[in-house]
Amino acid sequence: MKTSESRIHEKLGILADAAKYDVSCASSGSKRKNDNKGLGDSTGMGICHSYTEDGRCVSLLKILLTNYCIFDCAYCVSRKSNDIKRAAFTIEEVVELTINFYRRNYIEGLFLSSGIFKNADFTMERLVTIARKLRTEHHFNGYIHLKTIPGASEALMKEAGLYADRLSVNIELPTEASLKTLAPDKNYEEIFTPMSYLSEAITEYKAEKALIKSTPLFAPAGQSTQMVIGATPESDKDIMFQANTLYQQFSMKRVYYSGYIPIGGDERLPGIGTPPPLIREHRLYQTDWLMRFYGFKVNEIVSDEHPNLDVDVDPKLSWALRNLQEFPVDINTADYAMILRVPGIGVGSAQKIIAARKFGKLDWHQLKKIGVAMNRVKHFVVCSKQDVLFGDLTPGAIRHHILSLGKSKYTASYSPQLSLF
Ligand code: SF4
Repeated sequence: MKTSESRIHEKLGILADAAKYDVSCASSGSKRKNDNKGLGDSTGMGICHSYTEDGRCVSLLKILLTNYCIFDCAYCVSRKSNDIKRAAFTIEEVVELTINFYRRNYIEGLFLSSGIFKNADFTMERLVTIARKLRTEHHFNGYIHLKTIPGASEALMKEAGLYADRLSVNIELPTEASLKTLAPDKNYEEIFTPMSYLSEAITEYKAEKALIKSTPLFAPAGQSTQMVIGATPESDKDIMFQANTLYQQFSMKRVYYSGYIPIGGDERLPGIGTPPPLIREHRLYQTDWLMRFYGFKVNEIVSDEHPNLDVDVDPKLSWALRNLQEFPVDINTADYAMILRVPGIGVGSAQKIIAARKFGKLDWHQLKKIGVAMNRVKHFVVCSKQDVLFGDLTPGAIRHHILSLGKSKYTASYSPQLSLF
């Protein structure tokens, strides 16, 4: 007969494995102070076997409450028609696991998602109860990311926001047509309604807290979402335009792009053996960063003429090669926005360049010391009017030269958090 410990161990194996397909848990920016009565605290950057913006690798207990599901989304390993081993934690089990792991310093927080038990509210209520117990009974100040269940009531969403640091509603697929095909039980409205509610509630609570200090926190690390890519025929343009709308309309903190890993068993999907589109996923993350931190508009990177990203070179270099009329940039006179657009100069280097210019004119030696990627920069920058650019200035020649430096050196290994520009 199995002991309760071995049963929990078995559930953990099943429900942590099922949760690995959700990538929307790197986070956060949340601050939750310990008032000396509680357990731990959560500060600064994020979570979950993932790299934070400052390069830190942090860990979360990332599990599903259950992998039972009444829905049949074709791309999901937990879909009801999939013949897999099922399990479900009780509320107490998740609370105890979280507290035990946290006390042992295994984790810095909890990422909790779930298949849909009977209906959206029934499931969401359990997720909220776990968060409530952690916060109010155990005074847990670690990070909590809750997945919200589309279709759950506003009252539950509101309560979730009062206990969780981050909430997410997965958009799942880039277009409504694809959602209808692969996830017929879901509809776009049930996904956008909670996103819209969260966006408004986060803004309202923040504004109120600025005026009244005692206003409780409401999802202080904001909301995020995830799109499965490569399972349906959308172009990179379709994906990035959708992401742009999500950022603009719902103040998303992050949109995650999850390259579809074939799980087989459905002819609507790429078959087993099709490699997951990891480079594509990487290029989408780079585009996302260009939009959020480099001042690029989405239609500068993808358009009807260029609906898909170049897999060989990053999207910033690709843009520069298509817009050589914007170059060379004089590093001593160009404004910050234009310096940011130079391939080989990241946000940190651009800021250093602007700061260093206050003390005199910069030359190549100083640029190198600042840490720009000289192999790329030398094709796009001059340090004075008399300066000459390196080599032939045709897009093909520059591209060829940069690629000849060695793909392994140029195309960094996959990590959505890397700043590659
Ligand atoms: S509702 Fe969620 S858990 Fe259920 S099949 Fe769809 S994606 Fe999977």
